Amino acid sequence: MTGALIDRLLDVIEEDIIPKTARGVERGNKLFGAALLRKSDLSLVIAETNNETENPLWHGEVHCLKRFYELPKAGRPDTRELIFLATHEPCSLCLSAITWAGFDNFYYLFSHADSRDSFAIPHDLRILDRCSPCRRAAIVRRTPTGRASRCGGWSASWRTRSG
Ligand SMILES: [Zn+2]
Repeated sequence: MTGALIDRLLDVIEEDIIPKTARGVERGNKLFGAALLRKSDLSLVIAETNNETENPLWHGEVHCLKRFYELPKAGRPDTRELIFLATHEPCSLCLSAITWAGFDNFYYLFSHADSRDSFAIPHDLRILDRCSPCRRAAIVRRTPTGRASRCGGWSASWRTRSG
């Protein structure tokens, strides 16, 4: 990552995302935002912010994608030509949305730990923590013959990750 790219991403956060986020926070939304930039010249396509007061699924990233797909299709760039920028490390919902939309990259400024420690928003880490007991439970449910009685996919996934 070049210095010019880092400077541009920080400028977009400061100049394009934060003003929208400040207005969103005044309406009761969280402070997460996102933007899409062209890879070719780092110009801004769209910037958006969390809008969970309208719909709990409108995290900053997903709301940005929603607005992006509301742009006229004729002038809308292919997602493979774009950079995805998020102010905070995307949660599992947003990570899936970014992937399903076809992006081959994403950048973020603050980590999940920053969201918990600096912004008092621990939800992402809690969700990830609660996924781990599911995987462990799948192993516990294995039968004496070694066959998983339930959640076989989870069990196989866990073994793969452990081994
Ligand atoms: Zn999210």
